[in-house]
This record gives sequence, C-alpha cells and structure tokens, in this order.
Amino acid sequence: MAVKEVLLLGNPKLREKSSNIKSFIGEFESNLKNLSDTLYYLQKEKQIGRAIAAPQIGWLKNVIFYNLPERAFFMVNPKILSKSEIMISVWDSCFCFDVAFFIEIERHKEVKIQYLDREGNKKIEEFNDDLSELVQHEIDHLNGILATDRLKDPRKIIMRKEWERRFK
Ligand SMILES: [Zn+2]
Repeated sequence: MAVKEVLLLGNPKLREKSSNIKSFIGEFESNLKNLSDTLYYLQKEKQIGRAIAAPQIGWLKNVIFYNLPERAFFMVNPKILSKSEIMISVWDSCFCFDVAFFIEIERHKEVKIQYLDREGNKKIEEFNDDLSELVQHEIDHLNGILATDRLKDPRKIIMRKEWERRFK
C-alpha cells in the first residue's frame, strides 16, 4: 500500500500537461496501485470524492481512477469524442483544494469518451449529469486545468461547511 501526497492548489506541477501511457507493464502497474490506494485513503479521510487523476499525485500521465458506489475503474489515455451543447450548473471541489471549499461552475451535461482500460482494451462510453461533470473535472487535470479556472463568478465560492449546511 502506497498512499501518495496530493499536490495542492498553487503547486506548479498541477499546471503541466500529462502524456499518454505507452506501456501497460512494470512501473505503470505500481503507479496504478499508488493512485487507487491514495483515492481509497482520501475517500475515508475526507468522507467525500469519487475519483483521482494521476497528476494530482505528481504522476504526469493520462490516467484517472474512479471509485463509484457501483463500480471502480481506471481510465487510461481518455479522449473526449463529443460533448453536449447543453450545460449544467454544478458544485465542484477537489482534493487539490483539500475539499475545503466548493465552487459553482458549468459543465457539459453529456460527454462521450474513448479510453483504454487497465489492460489496454479500447472502450467508448457516454457519461451523463453528475458522472459527466466528474469525468470533465478529471480530464481537466490531465490538461493542467483546475476547477477554479472555470469559475466565472467569484461570489460562487463557498466553504465546505456552508455547502454541507445548504446541500446535505
Ligand atoms: Zn480535482
């Protein structure tokens, strides 16, 4: 088990663009394990969160790990094939913000993604609503984009406790 430290907002490494995975063996496998171990730890520690992108632990590769109530899976080298014109308004946070605050931003209601699973098999999948929002958040990380970059109205920042008071 190797829980990695999560880079925090302000760390320049979070602004770098990650590169594609070319080999599915060796170091790749131990890094996958670090990524999933770190998410499991954070979900327990912070009592929130559904996914983690590799750059968040300083591994600058196009890899995301999702641990959802219904399934857990890796997304390798994801590519957005299409996104809906319809936008939705969502409250977003991030382990890179230490989940200390939430921001209200807009995301596409649906996205169609092509990716590889951990064995390198090609998948094409559509995600809607809260999963679409999540996938867009994670793919942004691979491009060095953080949720705060999407904030249009600085009044739409609220602390986690206030978010919980309002929405939980
Ligand atoms: Zn994030």
